[in-house]
Amino acid sequence: MNRIFASIILLFISLSFFACNDKKKENTETTSDSTAIVEESKEINIYSQRHYESDKNLFAEFEKQTGIKVNVVKASADELINKLEMEGQNSPADVLITVDAGRLHRAKSKGLLQPIESNILFENIPAHLRDAENQWFGITKRARVIVYDKEKEKPENFATYESLADAKAKGKLLIRSSENVYNQSLMASIIANSDEETARKWATNIVENMARKPKGGDRDQIKGIAAGEGTLAVTNTYYLAQMLNDTDEENVKAAQKVAVIFPNQDGRGTHINISGAAVTKHSPNKENAIKLIEFLTSKESQEVYMNQEMEYPVRTDIEMIQTLKNWGTFKEDTLNLSKLGENQEKAVIIFDEVKWK
Ligand code: FE
Repeated sequence: MNRIFASIILLFISLSFFACNDKKKENTETTSDSTAIVEESKEINIYSQRHYESDKNLFAEFEKQTGIKVNVVKASADELINKLEMEGQNSPADVLITVDAGRLHRAKSKGLLQPIESNILFENIPAHLRDAENQWFGITKRARVIVYDKEKEKPENFATYESLADAKAKGKLLIRSSENVYNQSLMASIIANSDEETARKWATNIVENMARKPKGGDRDQIKGIAAGEGTLAVTNTYYLAQMLNDTDEENVKAAQKVAVIFPNQDGRGTHINISGAAVTKHSPNKENAIKLIEFLTSKESQEVYMNQEMEYPVRTDIEMIQTLKNWGTFKEDTLNLSKLGENQEKAVIIFDEVKWK
């Protein structure tokens, strides 16, 4: 019922957005017809899944620097992808931003994106953090790590994602819902690195080891450890970093109770994912779209993402903030991030089978 209601609202927003944009298109066309000069567009429409404060600040800075008005529609990646499909070539969207490479891959497979040639992007973003066919580009990097209660657990006992499925983790593990895309991508990476059967067994045992039914976000799993509900949790790094630097003393205390394990350092490396951006297939303001993504990978923007959100920059020439420095460097799983998209549907099916809520 909720989903139907959300769809209706989304449709309504789309229609008004679309109507408004159509008028703008008409105006531009009339002008260019009569003057035979293509008028420089002064706006950009972004469909974004990101729910962070840093984005608002960066878009404001981009507006200030370029005079290009930034319009943002926020929703889940699936809702935004459906919206792009529904709108087709009349879509006002120029840029799609998600918090997961898997969903960008899905948008690409559906023919909703276009390849971009930009030496700035090729230079700023390492190859493994962008699409091999240049249809999407990582703008921030995140590692999905294990955290543990420093007083009750030894890190050497839980050095891998696989170890969380061992009997020794029974009743100890705090992890959020399988509806969450971060867990879907983690599972997709486990399928890619082994096979479906192994991944199913892993997920079955993870459910068995849960200290409680999945609830809340990554921060809530860390707080769960502090509250004594479990001793192990899975989280993206930036949530822990934010808690460590929070103005709320309670959050700082909770975060200080745990320490980080970068899993699978002796093997494939820690599962990483990106927040990424792509230019949509029918982008009406393509030049601005490229300009914006380039701007988001500039040194200044990468520092904003790191300072305000505590995500890892995609650029390799950024001086890390102290919290990230303290955790040290780690080996990353170099799995092609498109694999996350290819395996996410299988991941969701397995989650359902093993009743990971
Ligand atoms: Fe997040």
